[in-house]
Amino acid sequence: MKGFQQTLKNRISFNGQALHCGKDVAVNLIPQPVDTGVLFARSDLPGKPVLKATPANVVDTLRSMAIGADGWRIQTIEHLMAALHALQVDNLLVEVDGPELPLGDGSAQFFMKKILEAGLVTQEKPRKVRKITAPVAVIDEREPHSYLIALPGKGLRLSYYFTSDHKVTGNQFAQYVITPEVFQKEIAPARTIAFYRELEALRKQGLALGGNMDIAVVVGEDSYLNPLRFEDEIVRHKILDLLGDLYLLGPIEGEIIGLRSGHKLDLELALKLENQLV
Ligand SMILES: [Zn+2]
Repeated sequence: MKGFQQTLKNRISFNGQALHCGKDVAVNLIPQPVDTGVLFARSDLPGKPVLKATPANVVDTLRSMAIGADGWRIQTIEHLMAALHALQVDNLLVEVDGPELPLGDGSAQFFMKKILEAGLVTQEKPRKVRKITAPVAVIDEREPHSYLIALPGKGLRLSYYFTSDHKVTGNQFAQYVITPEVFQKEIAPARTIAFYRELEALRKQGLALGGNMDIAVVVGEDSYLNPLRFEDEIVRHKILDLLGDLYLLGPIEGEIIGLRSGHKLDLELALKLENQLV
């Protein structure tokens, strides 16, 4: 993750459907100067309010990561953030004309392809990769306990234990040292998990993507209801979400181990780590 800071070669624009608001949203990715970080702006609101993607600017962690302020938010930022993190895009303005980013196929491939098509450009200043200096843990004590643990280490190594009583998914474990290549091949294509009954409920609410089997790994009572991209696709997607959420801190180095954790613990860990990264 070392080297010089990067941004996109050119500004790019695309559209896609968002899951929760059900709308077609337009996104602009706009190159930015060194030391900007990742900014999010609502292009449909007066004055185009803008915020940096930081732990302090998160307003919701239920189901997805949302940043925002009084009266506005942008949710489901984690899959784009994972692509920016792994592909080492340091400086970027993300404009969205709605309250949510497009879902694509439920993985990070949608955003990864757009970024790779646009291409990256090296900027004049070295990237500052901050290091985890001492162990930090956050725990959700609801049964069964969930944990997220950060340790010092070289590179960025992410491990995740997914546990489930569901006979279709079973337990899954994965561990990756994150590089752009590993991300493109092993992580970006992994889709989010959805239970068939949830998709049905969305469809009944009249949401555009409801009932759509192309936006997730769909788990039925006795089997997966669509073809898997990886045997352990669910845990790979959990690593994808973790990678995206951690990018609220900018580039970091160390080892992170999650057990049943999700966006809520990711944010708690990021808030704790922010004070001790060097
Ligand atoms: Zn996700």
